[in-house]
Amino acid sequence: MRQVIIAGNWKMYKTAGEARRLVEDLKPLVGATQVEIVVCPPFTALAAAVNAASGTNISVGAQDLFWEDEGPYTGEVSGPMLKDLGCRFCIIGHSERRQYFGETDASVRKKVQAAFRSDLIPIVCVGETLAEREDGKTLEVCRRQVEEGLGGLTPEKIARLVVAYEPVWAIGTGKTATPQDAQEVIGFIRELLGKMYGKDPAQRCRIQYGGSVKPENIASFMEQPDIDGALVGGASLDPISFAAIVNTAA
Ligand code: PEP
Repeated sequence: MRQVIIAGNWKMYKTAGEARRLVEDLKPLVGATQVEIVVCPPFTALAAAVNAASGTNISVGAQDLFWEDEGPYTGEVSGPMLKDLGCRFCIIGHSERRQYFGETDASVRKKVQAAFRSDLIPIVCVGETLAEREDGKTLEVCRRQVEEGLGGLTPEKIARLVVAYEPVWAIGTGKTATPQDAQEVIGFIRELLGKMYGKDPAQRCRIQYGGSVKPENIASFMEQPDIDGALVGGASLDPISFAAIVNTAA
């Protein structure tokens, strides 16, 4: 069966020193869990987090990468650089990157391929805006993001990667999708991956819910048959809250 995966997206919070302390504080709180735990600090704090997490059950991921491995791309960071630092995961296509930094389904697709080239596991974010939901376009938007962002891969890669369904209107707002609504979309994504790549890889692919996940609501999402964990923003910045989410999800 699919291993539960809880990932923390720290966004643009935490210096290197703060990241080290957060991981140190988290370690004793999540010691014995079967859950796969990932923390995703900003680029500048990745090395400190990797160092602090070394020898534990906590993996480290980046929040983005560029699709070329090296070259004249000022300000960008590549897959080989992240792998060299000790990262295992990389978030790709977060809605904040789509909204503020021009991320598109086409760039997501190139970044997913780049992550695999460097043996990084992509956590690929999809999800509709409030206007799209109100227009009844949720499934259509998620279908487009999955078909275009995750096209051109192999069944083996689909089985390895992680998808995060994050309705944009639920991120950082305190509003959540109902567990049933999240299940409906996540079940739809799994079915779509099945049509694209076959039932077996689609069953092995882990799909998270994201959007105002807290210790109080994680259990209701985990009860759903297709939800394999969560991508957590705000609540991942506090070790006690993040550990409570991990331990409740177990
Ligand atoms: C996120 O940033 O991916 C997220 C889900 O944020 P929050 O948990 O704060 O809504």
